[in-house]
Amino acid sequence: DKGLEKTRTNFTDLLSNLFTGFREVDEDFYEDLEETLIGADVGFNMTLALTDAIRDEIESQNVHKPEDVKRVMLEKMVQLYEREGGDNLVALKENPDGPTVILFVGVNGVGKTTSVGKIGYQLKAAGHKVLMAAADTFRAGAVEQLNVWGQRLDIPVVTGQDQGDPASVVFDAVKRANEEQFDYLLVDTAGRLQTKINLMDELAKIKRIIERENPNGVQEVLLVLDATTGQNALIQAKQFNEATDISGLVLTKLDGTAKGGVVLSIRYDLDIPVKYIGLGEQATDLQVFDSEQYMYNLVK
Ligand code: GDP
Repeated sequence: DKGLEKTRTNFTDLLSNLFTGFREVDEDFYEDLEETLIGADVGFNMTLALTDAIRDEIESQNVHKPEDVKRVMLEKMVQLYEREGGDNLVALKENPDGPTVILFVGVNGVGKTTSVGKIGYQLKAAGHKVLMAAADTFRAGAVEQLNVWGQRLDIPVVTGQDQGDPASVVFDAVKRANEEQFDYLLVDTAGRLQTKINLMDELAKIKRIIERENPNGVQEVLLVLDATTGQNALIQAKQFNEATDISGLVLTKLDGTAKGGVVLSIRYDLDIPVKYIGLGEQATDLQVFDSEQYMYNLVK
């Protein structure tokens, strides 16, 4: 698979370097392993936990061969991810009594609008009736960008005026989604970080309107994060999670980075499942996140 190839190759290259001229699992090996994991943005806490787990297993099983060491590494990555509560394959929550509403949040440039388009494409391809709302009325071009996705995918888009009130766009969209019996409403929100407090207030207002107008309110709040920003992505996740309940993550741009380890780091520090990964700019470049497959690709 083309998208993950780059992440795989980069991270795998780093891991393979560990085995160049490999003779024995010694202290140097564990030091290099730690450095490699930190370099791949596995994060400090997770790196220590992972290295300890790998060391215990290697010592207790008396492992020597490189391929066995690799197998232990994979086992421990999967085990640690799942022990931290990272269920494999977490499905979207659905609304049984009306349209399923998904809010997309995140700072500008992470790939939010693109992810709305990609998920719209997947849901539509699965036979659902999908509506999108352009509630990022702040960033110049965001509304137009979502309109382009809508035209390309033949998915209607509810828009308002430039610089208009995002809450009124959302109000119109929820009303239409209910009246015309859409299955899904995907809401693209603003992501300007320089006015963080206003942004968080705006998100709260949007949620309140949906809670008032839609049976069962909001089903998912997906935070979109750019994997290439590594540990910054983790900081953003913490900030957003303090301001609003994030139900899942979309991790984008994993096609262009060696920092695929950030998945492990996020799992260790925050109790939020990764639901989708972005692997390119096209509608089809999105996958439901499968942690076991993901780790396997990293270590392979
Ligand atoms: P927003 O400001 O968060 O809405 O970000 P956009 O959706 O406009 O995306 C910013 C840029 O990142 C665009 O050029 C997208 O094509 C690109 N992009 C989004 N997702 C991915 C991805 O998974 N991989 C790559 N390589 N590029 C992406």
